[in-house]
Amino acid sequence: MANPIKQLVRAGMAATLPRRRFMVSGPRSGNAVCLTFDDGPDPEHTPRLLDVLREHGAKVTFFMIGREVEKYPHIVRRAIDEGHAVGGHSFTHGDPTRTTGRQLADEAERTEQLFEKVLGRRVSLFRPPHGKLTALKMWHLWKGGQSVVLWNVDPKDYMCSSPRELTDRLNTRDLAGGDVVLLHDNVRHTVDAMPEVLEGLRGRGLSFVTADSWVKPVMQSCGRGSYAVAAADAGGRVLALGGMVRLMECATL
Ligand SMILES: [Zn+2]
Repeated sequence: MANPIKQLVRAGMAATLPRRRFMVSGPRSGNAVCLTFDDGPDPEHTPRLLDVLREHGAKVTFFMIGREVEKYPHIVRRAIDEGHAVGGHSFTHGDPTRTTGRQLADEAERTEQLFEKVLGRRVSLFRPPHGKLTALKMWHLWKGGQSVVLWNVDPKDYMCSSPRELTDRLNTRDLAGGDVVLLHDNVRHTVDAMPEVLEGLRGRGLSFVTADSWVKPVMQSCGRGSYAVAAADAGGRVLALGGMVRLMECATL
C-alpha cells in the first residue's frame, strides 16, 4: 500500500503548500499530536468515544460523512460542545476513482451546509475519502474554501482484530509532536483501545490538539520554502499548483 512515489509527492506537497490549504502533519516544535477519527458520526461508537475523551481530557478531530451528520446531528453538536473539531469527509464516501473534482467539491459543500445548519457556522476542514486527491480535486476544494487535511501516521485500526493489537501498534511507533494519526470512530475496538492509547501517549509526554488549531495560524512560513516546482507527472502538476497558491497567499500578506 505504501507507494514510495505517492509518499514523495505527498511530502513535497506538504512542504510546498501552506498548512491552511493542505496539511499532512503539524508543527514539529511542540509535543502535541492530532488524533483524527473518520467515517462517523456512528450512533453507537462515537458517543462511547466522546465519553472516553471527556474522562481523559483529550481533544480530537472528527472527519464526518455528510450522510451520517444528517442522521445524527446531536452527536456533531456534542463533539463541538465538548471542545473537539469537526471537518467534512464527503457526503457519500463514494469511490474516489468514480468521483470527479466537481462532485467531490459539491459533496464537501453539501456537508458544509449541514454543519452550518447544525452548528451555525462553516467548519472548512475536509479530508477526502481514502485520502485520495488529484490536482483538479484539490483545486475545486480550495475554491470552496476548504483546508485539506490528510495524515502521516496510519496504524490501520480497521485491520486490527482486537483493541490490544491497536494499542500495541501505536505504543511501538515512535510518535512525535506534529503527527496526525488516522483512526476511525465507527470501529468498535478502536474505541475500546482508546483509554489505554491515550494514557500511553500521555505517558510518553505527548498532548493532544485539534487539526483546526494547526491549520489556522497560517502564513508565517511564507518567504521560505520553494515556490516553483516543475515535474511531468500528476504529482508534479499538484506541486506546481501548490507553488502558485503559495505565491498567491504570500502576495496577500
Ligand atoms: Zn473514510
